[in-house]
Amino acid sequence: MRADLDARPNLLGFMASELEALVKTLGQPSYRGRQLHHGLFHKLLPGVAAISDLPKAFRELVAASFATETPSIHRQQISQDGTRKYLFRAPDGVTFEAVYIPEVAKGRGTNTLCVSSQTGCSVGCKFCFTASIKRWRNLMAAEIIGQIIAVQRDVTAISADAQVTNIVFMGMGEPLLNYAEVTRAARILMDPEGLSFASRRITISTSGIVPRIYDLGRELPVQLAISLNATTDEIRNEVMPINKKWPLAALIQALRDYPLQPRRRFTIEYVMLRGKNDSLADANRLVRLLQGLPVKVNLLPLNGHERTDYTSPTEATVLAFEAELRRAGMNAIIRTARGRDIDAACGQLGGADHVQNG
Ligand code: SAH
Ligand code: SF4
Repeated sequence: MRADLDARPNLLGFMASELEALVKTLGQPSYRGRQLHHGLFHKLLPGVAAISDLPKAFRELVAASFATETPSIHRQQISQDGTRKYLFRAPDGVTFEAVYIPEVAKGRGTNTLCVSSQTGCSVGCKFCFTASIKRWRNLMAAEIIGQIIAVQRDVTAISADAQVTNIVFMGMGEPLLNYAEVTRAARILMDPEGLSFASRRITISTSGIVPRIYDLGRELPVQLAISLNATTDEIRNEVMPINKKWPLAALIQALRDYPLQPRRRFTIEYVMLRGKNDSLADANRLVRLLQGLPVKVNLLPLNGHERTDYTSPTEATVLAFEAELRRAGMNAIIRTARGRDIDAACGQLGGADHVQNG
């Protein structure tokens, strides 16, 4: 069968309970479903053919109707700072990226994997490379989970104890515009019998799809990050056109209404654009806007690329902005770009190899 005609559902997008039900429809006992789940999501074996504790006939039965492989890694780049960027290519030709960011914080290793939820984005933020990709689609849960399993396998091959510890949905795409598949992937990630990520180690970042923020708050206890990026509707309308649909007041109200888990904070991302949103007046408006909300502010000086007209502020401007926030008692940090030499930094994804998409 040609790969691009492969219509078999991929089991990497299935929950344990669904696998058990599914094997029953194949006339098999439900414990085979648990074995299948263990092999794919716990041992991270590369497909059903490799799960050797399953009978060969059963493996063939599953493989006839279902795919079990991760998306294939088309290219990998390694930054001088240890960041690794993976370019995946799906059978239909779309490409998407995941970025592995190893860090040593407080003496412990935190290895964050930034995953994509779509292979482009319709939100159209004026500073973001992903927004310029024309031919794109939603990723399926199996393709999201597939990024995580493929990278985990790859880093383990390099160093046996390397472990992806945190997942952030900050790669290509707007996760809350692919709500069903993204929340399905998050549930699969949190399955204690499988990949077993704690909910506080999963962060969904959104440009502010307000109704879906309410849904997420009701349904999943994951961490929430908001790409705020402006402090007035006038500027936000310009840099993030989605603001015309859900303006600042509605977005901030959604945060005030959000059932945040105890001892947690929202992450507020603020991409700094020279002369646009980087003044001390902006810093003061930001403080007022977020008054009373448990937040930490991540300042992201723009990572430049050829598809934006904006430029990055000077270092002095960024430091002054941060100092102004801190003076007002806000928890603020400047996020240094990781993997910039391989175009793996925020907003640069969808680069060189995406000619077929954009
Ligand atoms: N669509 C989601 C998640 C992906 S974008 C969202 O917008 O939140 C992840 C982060 O990268 C967002 O905070 C976004 O504001 C930031 N970003 C986009 N383009 C950037 C650029 N060129 N430089 C720095 N940060 C950028
Ligand atoms: Fe989409 Fe996020 Fe980029 Fe905006 S910043 S275009 S929402 S990926």
